[in-house]
Amino acid sequence: MVPDTERPPRRLLHALGRAAARESQRRDIERQTRPDQLERSVREYLGRTRIVIASNREPYQHVRRNGSIRAIRSAGGLASALDSVARATGAVWVAQASGDADREMADDRGRVSMPPGQDRYTLQRVWIDDEERAQGFNRFVNGCLWPLCHVVYVRPQFVAAHWRAYQEVNRMFADAILEAAGDEPALVLLQDYHLALCAAELRARRPDLTIVLFWHIPWPNAEVFRIVPWKREILEGLLACDLLGFHIRYHGMNFIETVSQELEALIDRERGAVRRRGRRTFVRDYPISPDVAEIAVTAADPSTRAAVQRIRERLAIGDAQVILGVDRLDYTKGIPERLDAYELLLDRHPEWRDRVVMVLIAVPSRVDLPEYQALGRAVAERVEKLNERFGSGQRQSVYLITENLDFRDLIPYYVMADVMAVTSLHDGMNLVAKEYVAARVHNDGVLVLSPYTGASRELEHAIQVSPFDVDRLSGAFRQALTISPDDRERRMKSLREVVAAQNIYDWARKLLRDVRRLHLVPGATWPGGRR
Ligand code: UDP
Repeated sequence: MVPDTERPPRRLLHALGRAAARESQRRDIERQTRPDQLERSVREYLGRTRIVIASNREPYQHVRRNGSIRAIRSAGGLASALDSVARATGAVWVAQASGDADREMADDRGRVSMPPGQDRYTLQRVWIDDEERAQGFNRFVNGCLWPLCHVVYVRPQFVAAHWRAYQEVNRMFADAILEAAGDEPALVLLQDYHLALCAAELRARRPDLTIVLFWHIPWPNAEVFRIVPWKREILEGLLACDLLGFHIRYHGMNFIETVSQELEALIDRERGAVRRRGRRTFVRDYPISPDVAEIAVTAADPSTRAAVQRIRERLAIGDAQVILGVDRLDYTKGIPERLDAYELLLDRHPEWRDRVVMVLIAVPSRVDLPEYQALGRAVAERVEKLNERFGSGQRQSVYLITENLDFRDLIPYYVMADVMAVTSLHDGMNLVAKEYVAARVHNDGVLVLSPYTGASRELEHAIQVSPFDVDRLSGAFRQALTISPDDRERRMKSLREVVAAQNIYDWARKLLRDVRRLHLVPGATWPGGRR
């Protein structure tokens, strides 16, 4: 044992610890791509190529508030990264209009300069005025493709009218994209499962376009996909792309396997490509990440500590440990399983009843669908029951927050949480897991993570446990609450190293770098002819 006289004073140790944390944070931030660097890279890779981005959600919506019109930026890292790409290239961004003042702010062709007041790119709004078509499209996207691709045993609804609406909306998007592309060579960046048929539509009319689509959700295995009545059209639609991106390799491999089972195509496993009817589609993985630096800076800010204090007081949590969940209220997120495991923990270990609380931020989502309404009711009932059993006086055992918090207001919750519970039954990536790690600037906090998330491939040092196994999940909560400080720090340090290695801007940069590396640059001809 070191004699007291030789030990550095505790305050000095704390100060050194804080300085080391600041230094490692500075290094992390320097390693990350910044929006201006992404802009430079895009110009380097693509020169003055015309870019058309297409997504269902628009980057800014115009809404009427208290008699005036405001532009509201779409939340989330993806919107920021695509915004940087659009700025760098003066792109046209095609998206479905969603704000109640969108029409007033656009010209008679539905165009509006973006970002508001800066005029760096053009937003081309698409209106789906036909109510039946709009609803059918939503149903196909959320009631068919979503449960189909997330293997959670919710049966996808195959309704011919919804499929027709999906086809029509994809055609409307294709029309708007073609108009935006003009007659020049162009790169089209399609986002997600809302636009699976767009590339085929575009290809038929403009074979020279370079088309990339990023699929943000899992791709199921061939056995699951084969039940889709319109599987051929969907696969043909995707194979009209030059490059298809998934979060993880496994989903790309599932896609290739599905094609090999369903269509006549040449599979080039070596190059990760599919050749069909003289065209080649490359399949690659680009795991998405949040804006790690922004989260870390906000988490370390003294105002965040004050916000944590306010939340603790408002919820009357005292000094209890906090298990946090942050999700859209979706049946893929394993929220009932999480509550079951928490109940089991308190049943088996009554000593924890006064020492731990669960905070569930569950943002209502797709509330027009009956599955989602039923889930909302079931979660509220479970929470009420748990509070009846384990709450006392002012103090609840579970706090259910059903509002969509602004991203900056979410960070104090990440900072407050001793344990983060990500229990998705199936998830393409799960950004929340990475955001929590990014916010733990002092290398504390424990992440309990489902192995069925894309994030689990990178976040190997989380406590990984299947949400289908409620018994083990409950044990994982206990392990997380009682973990030794050394083990906790060791795990979190490793997780932070992984998360700091790339951010959302790297994601966009890698995708566009591959457009050049794979010789897909619009208008370019390469030795040996076209791709
Ligand atoms: N989020 C938010 N406010 C909330 C709850 C969640 O801004 O009240 C954000 C969260 O920070 C994350 C995103 O919503 O960036 C959810 O992404 P994730 O990949 O975890 O799940 P998804 O909803 O895309 O299935």
